[in-house]
Amino acid sequence: MESCIFCKIARGEISSEKIYENENFFSIKDIHPKVKGHSLVISKKHLDTFLELPDTFSSGFLDALKNTARKLLKEEKAAGFNIVNNNGKVAGQLVNHLHFHILPRKEKDAFGLGV
Ligand code: AMP
Ligand code: ZN
Repeated sequence: MESCIFCKIARGEISSEKIYENENFFSIKDIHPKVKGHSLVISKKHLDTFLELPDTFSSGFLDALKNTARKLLKEEKAAGFNIVNNNGKVAGQLVNHLHFHILPRKEKDAFGLGV
């Protein structure tokens, strides 16, 4: 995926500060944070959506989500967090490369999923 922004970051063509990394995933801060600490867990391989995630990636996927969330909770002194995964344009997916938003939450912050 030549022009994909997350593939470029995964290949190191765009520099990034990694929060966490394992064999198949890495996490970085979102460039337009919705809350302080808003971060993304991104697959190193180009996968369009969650449905393309191979079962063999399951443990690495859980490892990346948990370790990123733990680091953010500590760093932001947050009371909780949301994990959001948009699939398809209609669901708000802007970057067609599998990623999970992790949003650290605090009392009375200005964010709500409404679900
Ligand atoms: P989504 O709407 O789920 O596809 O979210 C894509 C997210 O990627 C948005 O929150 C963007 O702010 C974020 N984003 C786009 N480009 C970059 C980048 N170069 N570095 C970090 N985050 C990015
Ligand atoms: Zn990609």
